[in-house]
Amino acid sequence: MRIIEPKTYRHTRASSARKPQFFRSKPAIVIAALLLVGVGLAARQWIFQDDTQPVVASAQDQAQEPSDTVSTTGASEPQPEDAAVPPDEPEPQIEQEPESEPEPSEQLVEQPSTPVQQPEVDLLTFADNDFKLFYDNLKQPGLDTVENPPFIYDNVAADERIQQIAEDRGYKLRSEPSVQLATVDGYPVQPAIVDPWLALKQAAAADGHTISIVSAYRSISHQRTLFTSRLQSAGATVEQVAAGTVDNKIDSVLVTSSIPGYSKHHTGYTIDILCAGWAFENFKNSPCNEWISANNFEMAKLHGFIPSYPPGATKQGPDPEAWEYVWVGVDLLTKR
Ligand SMILES: [Zn+2]
Repeated sequence: MRIIEPKTYRHTRASSARKPQFFRSKPAIVIAALLLVGVGLAARQWIFQDDTQPVVASAQDQAQEPSDTVSTTGASEPQPEDAAVPPDEPEPQIEQEPESEPEPSEQLVEQPSTPVQQPEVDLLTFADNDFKLFYDNLKQPGLDTVENPPFIYDNVAADERIQQIAEDRGYKLRSEPSVQLATVDGYPVQPAIVDPWLALKQAAAADGHTISIVSAYRSISHQRTLFTSRLQSAGATVEQVAAGTVDNKIDSVLVTSSIPGYSKHHTGYTIDILCAGWAFENFKNSPCNEWISANNFEMAKLHGFIPSYPPGATKQGPDPEAWEYVWVGVDLLTKR
């Protein structure tokens, strides 16, 4: 209505200027013309009552188009605008452009997430025996060296015989924590490995593997109890051990169990990992082992862990233990 009123005034002004001439010469025509104009204007008002709103709305939409979604405006506009104003045709094309823009933007959102999962770390590669040498020569913080072999049975002859067999297998004296241990997943560990372990576990979960800790820090006295109970279960008495008649039984226990003072679990940097759905001792055949050991133990090393007893290393104490990992930190496993 407001748009049309000024036009009406223009016509009346124009006609009022010519009024005298028209009235004198052709009043009937003027009246007829005015009637026609009036009818025309009335008709135009009637016609544009519906159209003006879309036109005004489309003008608003034009300003809002960049931020608005396409589906709401695109469906209603074309029909009235196509009939009234041709220049509106390009607008749907402009509106369609945002349709194609969100797609690449979604792709852009996905693209950064992919490289984030692949840290730009140039990891060192180790042969199995290199893992063993690397760790045996490593001085880790937060540890006190165990200078002398702790007692086993408190029987000198028995203890020395067991310790000799153990060292012949490759067992070495390890260290004990000199710092307050932290707790993660219910197990005591060196504080430094809490976050790396949680990150490793999260990375495993992201790839569909559920891993958990089943053993971490172990005290010397705890290891003593473990070993002597297993040797007893093997049928060896202290007297037989001291007499040297059950060396084969001692050796068989040493395949899986360390003697007190010689376990890497004493440090608090060593963990035994369980793969959900798999027996602990069958970790080697689990998909978790395949995941963590692929590409020279890439996933383990990315989080600062190395295999404690890698499969191909020789004379490292126990037989290879696929489930046991030691944290040494990413820095030492990275090329510089
Ligand atoms: Zn272990």
